[in-house]
Amino acid sequence: MLEMEQYTCTNCPMGCPLQLTHEGENILEVFDYQCNRGLKYAKQEFSDPRRSLSTTVAISHARWARLPVKVSAPIPKDRVIEAAREIHQLQIESPVKRGQVLMSNFLGEKDIEVVALRSMERIS
Ligand code: SF4
Repeated sequence: MLEMEQYTCTNCPMGCPLQLTHEGENILEVFDYQCNRGLKYAKQEFSDPRRSLSTTVAISHARWARLPVKVSAPIPKDRVIEAAREIHQLQIESPVKRGQVLMSNFLGEKDIEVVALRSMERIS
């Protein structure tokens, strides 16, 4: 049975509305994209929707109580809450360098890491 999904491309401020037709898991056609990034976006949203995630974690013996962190690559959309919960359980000890890997193989995905977004020195 032919079905249609609708998305809004988030790759640029144009925010093009996209339509994708499919039969089951099989993509038939994508409409209304203005460039290839929109085409790729619609296919990704249909087959493996992912989201970026930035948050903070607790850090001790540092100037601030929270350290900003991000996940190095988009993670599956349906695992974002699980990912945030897992990150929030981290307890980081200063010092930390910007770009330092705090967790690797995050969510069991090779090459996905949780990294520090800023350096924090140790204070006594
Ligand atoms: S399809 Fe292209 S022009 Fe339209 S929002 Fe996406 S990136 Fe921008």
